[in-house]
Amino acid sequence: MQLTDAYDPQNIFAKILRDEMPSIRVFEDETTLAFMDIMPQAPGHVLVIPRVAATNVLTLSADDARAVMTTTHLLAPAVQKAMEAPGLMLAQLNGAAAGQTVPHFHMHIIPRHKGLEMLGHGTEVADMNELADIAARIRAAI
Ligand code: 5GP
Repeated sequence: MQLTDAYDPQNIFAKILRDEMPSIRVFEDETTLAFMDIMPQAPGHVLVIPRVAATNVLTLSADDARAVMTTTHLLAPAVQKAMEAPGLMLAQLNGAAAGQTVPHFHMHIIPRHKGLEMLGHGTEVADMNELADIAARIRAAI
């Protein structure tokens, strides 16, 4: 995946946006969608994506960048509260060389606890009931 690759409408997040693939949603509005990461690097790992077809930061408009950050800013305290996290990591990767694996722009919100090491990228698929419980707690905290 190169930074200059054309947008692939069959990528997994495009399918989630079109409801062709299931996801555990925590928030959505006209321009963004937030859902649980299926392979969380820590419990409570949420992804925020724009609805527009943008592969990475180079192809995302300033308006959509603002929209993603506004949703991230809304959800960060909810994730913090729901997970009782003393730390929060926001991350965003562009291009395979940076570690991006899904070619649709996304922001990671990852709760951090001192002494609890983050799992690697895409290490382990979470238990769906557990993810649904966490999502309900996050939604209740918005
Ligand atoms: P990236 O490596 O592109 O920054 O992050 C992609 C993220 O998407 C990873 O954290 C990975 O666990 C997550 N992911 C990959 N496939 C799926 C999926 O089918 N559903 C959900 N909810 N997350 C996914």
